Amino acid sequence: MGFERRQSRILIVDDSAFNISILGEALGDEYQIAVAKSGEEALRLAEQEPIPDLILLDIIMPGMDGHKVCRELKSRPATQGIPVIFITAMDQEGDETRGLELGAVDYITKPFSIPIVKARVKTHLELKHKTDILEHLSSLDGLTGIANRRRFDEVLELEWRRSRRTGLSLGIIMLDIDSFKNYNDHYGHAAGDECLRTVAKTLEESLHRPHDFVARYGGEEFVVILPDTDLQGGETIASAMRDKVNSLKITHDFSSAGPYVTCSFGLAVTVPGVGRTAEQLVAAADRMLYKAKQNGRDRIEITDVAVDK
Ligand code: GH3
Ligand code: MG
Ligand code: MG
Repeated sequence: MGFERRQSRILIVDDSAFNISILGEALGDEYQIAVAKSGEEALRLAEQEPIPDLILLDIIMPGMDGHKVCRELKSRPATQGIPVIFITAMDQEGDETRGLELGAVDYITKPFSIPIVKARVKTHLELKHKTDILEHLSSLDGLTGIANRRRFDEVLELEWRRSRRTGLSLGIIMLDIDSFKNYNDHYGHAAGDECLRTVAKTLEESLHRPHDFVARYGGEEFVVILPDTDLQGGETIASAMRDKVNSLKITHDFSSAGPYVTCSFGLAVTVPGVGRTAEQLVAAADRMLYKAKQNGRDRIEITDVAVDK
Protein backbone atom coordinates (compact mmCIF):
# COMPACT_ATOMS: atom_id res chain seq x y z
CA MET A 1 0.00 0.00 0.00
CA GLY A 2 2.59 2.54 -1.04
CA PHE A 3 1.76 6.17 -1.43
CA GLU A 4 4.30 7.26 -3.99
CA ARG A 5 3.80 10.54 -5.76
CA ARG A 6 2.39 10.11 -9.25
CA GLN A 7 1.71 12.74 -11.87
CA SER A 8 -1.41 14.72 -10.95
CA ARG A 9 -4.41 14.56 -13.26
CA ILE A 10 -6.39 17.64 -14.29
CA LEU A 11 -9.74 17.66 -16.04
CA ILE A 12 -10.31 20.81 -18.12
CA VAL A 13 -13.97 21.53 -18.81
CA ASP A 14 -14.73 24.22 -21.38
CA ASP A 15 -16.93 24.46 -24.46
CA SER A 16 -14.34 26.60 -26.23
CA ALA A 17 -11.57 24.72 -28.04
CA PHE A 18 -9.46 27.87 -27.81
CA ASN A 19 -9.57 28.01 -23.99
CA ILE A 20 -8.90 24.30 -23.78
CA SER A 21 -5.82 24.58 -25.94
CA ILE A 22 -4.41 27.53 -23.96
CA LEU A 23 -4.91 25.77 -20.60
CA GLY A 24 -3.76 22.45 -21.99
CA GLU A 25 -0.58 24.04 -23.27
CA ALA A 26 0.08 25.84 -19.99
CA LEU A 27 -0.40 22.74 -17.83
CA GLY A 28 0.36 19.82 -20.15
CA ASP A 29 4.07 19.66 -19.39
CA GLU A 30 3.63 19.11 -15.70
CA TYR A 31 0.31 17.31 -15.45
CA GLN A 32 -1.76 14.64 -17.10
CA ILE A 33 -4.61 16.42 -18.87
CA ALA A 34 -8.11 15.22 -19.74
CA VAL A 35 -10.62 17.40 -21.57
CA ALA A 36 -14.43 17.65 -21.52
CA LYS A 37 -16.34 19.94 -23.87
CA SER A 38 -19.64 19.84 -22.00
CA GLY A 39 -20.99 19.53 -18.47
CA GLU A 40 -22.40 16.09 -19.19
CA GLU A 41 -19.07 14.82 -20.48
CA ALA A 42 -17.33 16.34 -17.44
CA LEU A 43 -19.51 14.35 -15.02
CA ARG A 44 -18.85 11.16 -16.93
CA LEU A 45 -15.07 11.65 -17.01
CA ALA A 46 -14.90 12.77 -13.36
CA GLU A 47 -16.26 9.39 -12.24
CA GLN A 48 -14.04 7.34 -14.49
CA GLU A 49 -10.68 5.88 -13.55
CA PRO A 50 -8.24 7.53 -13.50
CA ILE A 51 -10.22 9.97 -11.32
CA PRO A 52 -8.93 13.55 -11.73
CA ASP A 53 -7.15 15.32 -8.85
CA LEU A 54 -8.45 18.72 -9.89
CA ILE A 55 -11.13 20.10 -12.21
CA LEU A 56 -10.90 23.43 -14.03
CA LEU A 57 -14.50 24.30 -14.78
CA ASP A 58 -15.98 26.87 -17.13
CA ILE A 59 -19.37 28.24 -16.05
CA ILE A 60 -21.11 29.34 -19.23
CA MET A 61 -21.58 26.32 -21.46
CA PRO A 62 -24.49 25.20 -23.60
CA GLY A 63 -26.50 22.42 -21.95
CA MET A 64 -25.45 21.79 -18.38
CA ASP A 65 -23.64 24.86 -17.03
CA GLY A 66 -20.65 24.86 -14.66
CA HIS A 67 -22.69 25.63 -11.55
CA LYS A 68 -24.88 22.60 -12.15
CA VAL A 69 -21.82 20.44 -12.85
CA CYS A 70 -20.21 21.57 -9.60
CA ARG A 71 -23.38 20.84 -7.60
CA GLU A 72 -23.56 17.35 -9.12
CA LEU A 73 -19.88 16.66 -8.46
CA LYS A 74 -20.24 17.67 -4.82
CA SER A 75 -23.31 15.49 -4.32
CA ARG A 76 -21.73 12.26 -5.58
CA PRO A 77 -19.55 10.24 -3.20
CA ALA A 78 -17.10 9.27 -5.96
CA THR A 79 -16.41 12.86 -7.03
CA GLN A 80 -17.10 15.09 -4.03
CA GLY A 81 -13.47 15.06 -2.93
CA ILE A 82 -12.16 16.46 -6.22
CA PRO A 83 -11.28 20.16 -5.88
CA VAL A 84 -12.97 22.39 -8.45
CA ILE A 85 -11.62 25.72 -9.71
CA PHE A 86 -14.02 27.82 -11.74
CA ILE A 87 -12.44 29.60 -14.70
CA THR A 88 -14.98 31.97 -16.08
CA ALA A 89 -15.87 35.21 -17.77
CA MET A 90 -18.53 35.84 -15.10
CA ASP A 91 -16.65 38.34 -12.99
CA GLN A 92 -19.28 39.89 -10.73
CA GLU A 93 -18.78 39.52 -6.99
CA GLY A 94 -22.08 37.63 -6.75
CA ASP A 95 -20.94 35.11 -9.39
CA GLU A 96 -17.78 34.36 -7.47
CA THR A 97 -19.65 34.01 -4.16
CA ARG A 98 -22.10 31.62 -5.77
CA GLY A 99 -19.28 29.49 -7.21
CA LEU A 100 -17.51 29.26 -3.88
CA GLU A 101 -20.75 28.47 -2.08
CA LEU A 102 -21.24 25.53 -4.42
CA GLY A 103 -18.05 24.04 -3.03
CA ALA A 104 -15.39 25.29 -5.47
CA VAL A 105 -11.97 25.85 -3.90
CA ASP A 106 -11.06 28.81 -6.10
CA TYR A 107 -12.34 31.14 -8.77
CA ILE A 108 -10.32 32.57 -11.66
CA THR A 109 -11.77 35.15 -14.04
CA LYS A 110 -11.11 35.44 -17.77
CA PRO A 111 -8.99 36.78 -19.27
CA PHE A 112 -6.64 34.85 -17.03
CA SER A 113 -2.92 35.12 -16.49
CA ILE A 114 -1.15 31.84 -17.18
CA PRO A 115 1.37 32.16 -14.32
CA ILE A 116 -1.47 32.81 -11.85
CA VAL A 117 -3.46 29.83 -13.12
CA LYS A 118 -0.36 27.66 -12.79
CA ALA A 119 0.40 28.89 -9.27
CA ARG A 120 -3.15 28.32 -8.05
CA VAL A 121 -3.37 24.91 -9.67
CA LYS A 122 -0.11 23.94 -7.98
CA THR A 123 -1.34 25.09 -4.56
CA HIS A 124 -4.59 23.17 -4.80
CA LEU A 125 -2.89 20.02 -6.06
CA GLU A 126 -0.50 20.15 -3.07
CA LEU A 127 -3.48 20.41 -0.73
CA LYS A 128 -5.25 17.58 -2.52
CA HIS A 129 -2.17 15.38 -2.19
CA LYS A 130 -2.00 16.03 1.56
CA THR A 131 -5.71 15.34 1.97
CA ASP A 132 -5.28 12.05 0.08
CA ILE A 133 -2.48 11.01 2.44
CA LEU A 134 -4.58 11.85 5.52
CA GLU A 135 -7.58 9.97 4.10
CA HIS A 136 -5.38 6.98 3.43
CA LEU A 137 -3.86 6.99 6.92
CA SER A 138 -7.19 7.41 8.66
CA SER A 139 -8.49 4.31 6.91
CA LEU A 140 -5.76 2.02 8.22
CA ASP A 141 -5.60 -0.04 11.40
CA GLY A 142 -2.58 1.07 13.43
CA LEU A 143 -1.51 -2.37 14.60
CA THR A 144 -1.86 -4.50 11.49
CA GLY A 145 -1.63 -1.96 8.66
CA ILE A 146 -4.70 -3.35 6.91
CA ALA A 147 -7.95 -1.38 6.54
CA ASN A 148 -9.84 -0.45 9.70
CA ARG A 149 -13.51 -0.61 10.67
CA ARG A 150 -14.17 2.91 9.42
CA ARG A 151 -12.90 2.04 5.96
CA PHE A 152 -14.87 -1.21 6.05
CA ASP A 153 -18.11 0.74 6.58
CA GLU A 154 -17.32 2.93 3.56
CA VAL A 155 -16.36 0.08 1.26
CA LEU A 156 -19.37 -1.98 2.31
CA GLU A 157 -21.71 0.86 1.41
CA LEU A 158 -20.03 1.31 -1.98
CA GLU A 159 -20.01 -2.40 -2.79
CA TRP A 160 -23.58 -2.86 -1.61
CA ARG A 161 -24.76 -0.12 -3.97
CA ARG A 162 -22.65 -1.49 -6.78
CA SER A 163 -24.03 -5.01 -6.35
CA ARG A 164 -27.55 -3.65 -6.30
CA ARG A 165 -26.89 -1.98 -9.64
CA THR A 166 -25.24 -4.99 -11.24
CA GLY A 167 -27.52 -7.61 -9.67
CA LEU A 168 -24.46 -9.70 -8.74
CA SER A 169 -24.16 -11.43 -5.38
CA LEU A 170 -22.04 -10.08 -2.56
CA GLY A 171 -20.28 -12.14 0.10
CA ILE A 172 -19.15 -11.24 3.62
CA ILE A 173 -16.80 -13.31 5.74
CA MET A 174 -16.51 -12.60 9.46
CA LEU A 175 -13.68 -14.42 11.18
CA ASP A 176 -12.20 -14.54 14.62
CA ILE A 177 -9.05 -16.06 16.07
CA ASP A 178 -9.83 -19.04 18.31
CA SER A 179 -8.97 -18.99 22.03
CA PHE A 180 -7.09 -15.76 21.59
CA LYS A 181 -7.57 -14.65 25.17
CA ASN A 182 -5.63 -17.75 26.24
CA TYR A 183 -2.94 -16.93 23.67
CA ASN A 184 -2.45 -13.48 25.18
CA ASP A 185 -2.60 -14.78 28.72
CA HIS A 186 0.10 -17.39 28.13
CA TYR A 187 2.40 -15.84 25.52
CA GLY A 188 1.98 -12.17 26.44
CA HIS A 189 0.39 -9.18 24.77
CA ALA A 190 3.37 -8.48 22.50
CA ALA A 191 3.19 -12.00 21.08
CA GLY A 192 -0.57 -11.52 20.69
CA ASP A 193 0.04 -8.35 18.69
CA GLU A 194 2.56 -10.14 16.49
CA CYS A 195 0.09 -12.94 15.90
CA LEU A 196 -2.59 -10.42 14.87
CA ARG A 197 -0.17 -8.83 12.38
CA THR A 198 0.74 -12.19 10.89
CA VAL A 199 -2.87 -13.31 10.56
CA ALA A 200 -3.85 -9.96 8.97
CA LYS A 201 -1.06 -10.28 6.41
CA THR A 202 -2.03 -13.87 5.65
CA LEU A 203 -5.67 -12.91 5.08
CA GLU A 204 -4.61 -10.13 2.76
CA GLU A 205 -2.45 -12.52 0.78
CA SER A 206 -5.42 -14.84 0.32
CA LEU A 207 -7.28 -12.24 -1.78
CA HIS A 208 -6.46 -11.77 -5.44
CA ARG A 209 -9.26 -9.89 -7.15
CA PRO A 210 -8.95 -6.08 -7.21
CA HIS A 211 -12.24 -5.42 -5.37
CA ASP A 212 -11.84 -8.09 -2.69
CA PHE A 213 -11.27 -6.35 0.61
CA VAL A 214 -10.22 -7.26 4.16
CA ALA A 215 -10.35 -5.13 7.31
CA ARG A 216 -9.74 -5.53 11.01
CA TYR A 217 -13.22 -5.37 12.46
CA GLY A 218 -12.00 -5.02 16.04
CA GLY A 219 -9.94 -6.99 18.58
CA GLU A 220 -9.07 -10.36 16.99
CA GLU A 221 -11.94 -10.22 14.55
CA PHE A 222 -11.61 -9.56 10.80
CA VAL A 223 -14.09 -9.00 8.01
CA VAL A 224 -13.84 -9.66 4.27
CA ILE A 225 -15.95 -8.17 1.46
CA LEU A 226 -16.24 -10.28 -1.69
CA PRO A 227 -18.05 -8.56 -4.56
CA ASP A 228 -19.49 -10.66 -7.37
CA THR A 229 -19.09 -13.80 -5.28
CA ASP A 230 -21.61 -16.59 -4.67
CA LEU A 231 -21.76 -19.09 -1.83
CA GLN A 232 -19.39 -21.52 -3.52
CA GLY A 233 -16.86 -18.81 -4.39
CA GLY A 234 -17.01 -17.41 -0.87
CA GLU A 235 -16.47 -20.82 0.61
CA THR A 236 -13.39 -21.31 -1.57
CA ILE A 237 -11.91 -18.05 -0.25
CA ALA A 238 -12.77 -18.81 3.39
CA SER A 239 -11.30 -22.26 2.98
CA ALA A 240 -8.09 -20.86 1.47
CA MET A 241 -7.82 -18.41 4.37
CA ARG A 242 -8.34 -21.16 6.92
CA ASP A 243 -5.70 -23.35 5.27
CA LYS A 244 -3.21 -20.50 5.07
CA VAL A 245 -3.65 -19.53 8.73
CA ASN A 246 -3.37 -23.16 9.83
CA SER A 247 -0.26 -23.71 7.75
CA LEU A 248 1.48 -20.87 9.60
CA LYS A 249 1.65 -23.36 12.47
CA ILE A 250 1.81 -20.70 15.18
CA THR A 251 2.08 -22.74 18.36
CA HIS A 252 -0.92 -22.38 20.66
CA ASP A 253 -0.79 -24.90 23.49
CA PHE A 254 -3.84 -23.42 25.18
CA SER A 255 -6.39 -23.50 22.37
CA SER A 256 -9.50 -25.65 22.49
CA ALA A 257 -9.25 -26.12 18.72
CA GLY A 258 -5.81 -27.73 18.27
CA PRO A 259 -2.06 -27.22 18.78
CA TYR A 260 -1.77 -24.15 16.52
CA VAL A 261 -3.49 -20.79 16.06
CA THR A 262 -6.72 -21.25 14.10
CA CYS A 263 -9.68 -19.10 13.10
CA SER A 264 -13.42 -19.64 12.87
CA PHE A 265 -15.27 -18.31 9.84
CA GLY A 266 -18.82 -17.20 9.10
CA LEU A 267 -19.78 -16.61 5.47
CA ALA A 268 -22.99 -15.01 4.22
CA VAL A 269 -23.90 -14.10 0.64
CA THR A 270 -26.84 -12.32 -0.87
CA VAL A 271 -27.96 -10.47 -3.95
CA PRO A 272 -28.57 -6.96 -2.60
CA GLY A 273 -32.17 -5.99 -3.27
CA VAL A 274 -35.33 -4.47 -1.99
CA GLY A 275 -35.97 -5.23 1.66
CA ARG A 276 -32.43 -6.33 2.38
CA THR A 277 -29.68 -4.26 3.97
CA ALA A 278 -25.90 -4.51 4.20
CA GLU A 279 -26.26 -4.64 7.99
CA GLN A 280 -28.39 -7.79 7.68
CA LEU A 281 -25.72 -9.41 5.56
CA VAL A 282 -23.02 -8.61 8.13
CA ALA A 283 -25.30 -9.84 10.93
CA ALA A 284 -25.86 -13.10 9.04
CA ALA A 285 -22.09 -13.60 8.63
CA ASP A 286 -21.72 -12.91 12.35
CA ARG A 287 -24.37 -15.53 13.19
CA MET A 288 -22.47 -18.05 11.06
CA LEU A 289 -19.24 -17.18 12.91
CA TYR A 290 -21.03 -17.81 16.20
CA LYS A 291 -22.24 -21.13 14.87
CA ALA A 292 -18.68 -22.07 13.83
CA LYS A 293 -17.51 -21.31 17.38
CA GLN A 294 -20.29 -23.42 18.87
CA ASN A 295 -19.60 -26.31 16.54
CA GLY A 296 -16.00 -26.61 17.73
CA ARG A 297 -14.01 -23.71 16.11
CA ASP A 298 -11.43 -23.94 13.27
CA ARG A 299 -14.28 -24.31 10.76
CA ILE A 300 -16.48 -22.46 8.28
CA GLU A 301 -20.25 -22.05 8.46
CA ILE A 302 -22.14 -20.58 5.52
CA THR A 303 -25.53 -19.15 4.66
CA ASP A 304 -27.31 -17.76 1.64
CA VAL A 305 -29.35 -14.87 3.03
CA ALA A 306 -31.64 -14.76 0.01
CA VAL A 307 -32.60 -18.40 0.46
CA ASP A 308 -32.79 -18.33 4.27
CA LYS A 309 -35.21 -15.44 4.49
P1 GH3 B 1 -13.07 -17.57 20.99
O1 GH3 B 1 -12.34 -18.80 20.56
O2 GH3 B 1 -14.47 -17.86 21.40
O3 GH3 B 1 -13.00 -16.49 19.99
O4 GH3 B 1 -12.34 -17.07 22.32
P2 GH3 B 1 -11.32 -15.88 22.44
O5 GH3 B 1 -10.52 -16.09 23.67
O6 GH3 B 1 -10.53 -15.71 21.17
O7 GH3 B 1 -12.28 -14.63 22.52
P3 GH3 B 1 -12.46 -13.51 23.60
O8 GH3 B 1 -13.39 -12.54 22.96
O9 GH3 B 1 -12.85 -14.10 24.93
O10 GH3 B 1 -11.04 -12.84 23.77
C1 GH3 B 1 -10.49 -12.05 22.78
C2 GH3 B 1 -9.14 -11.60 23.26
O11 GH3 B 1 -8.44 -10.94 22.21
C3 GH3 B 1 -9.20 -10.60 24.36
C4 GH3 B 1 -7.92 -9.85 24.21
O12 GH3 B 1 -6.99 -10.35 25.13
C5 GH3 B 1 -7.44 -10.17 22.81
N1 GH3 B 1 -7.21 -8.98 22.00
C6 GH3 B 1 -8.12 -8.15 21.44
N2 GH3 B 1 -7.50 -7.13 20.79
C7 GH3 B 1 -6.18 -7.33 20.96
C8 GH3 B 1 -5.01 -6.61 20.52
O13 GH3 B 1 -5.06 -5.58 19.85
N3 GH3 B 1 -3.80 -7.13 20.88
C9 GH3 B 1 -3.70 -8.26 21.62
N4 GH3 B 1 -2.48 -8.71 21.92
N5 GH3 B 1 -4.77 -8.93 22.04
C10 GH3 B 1 -5.99 -8.50 21.72
MG1 MG C 1 -11.55 -15.18 19.42
MG1 MG D 1 -13.63 -12.08 19.55
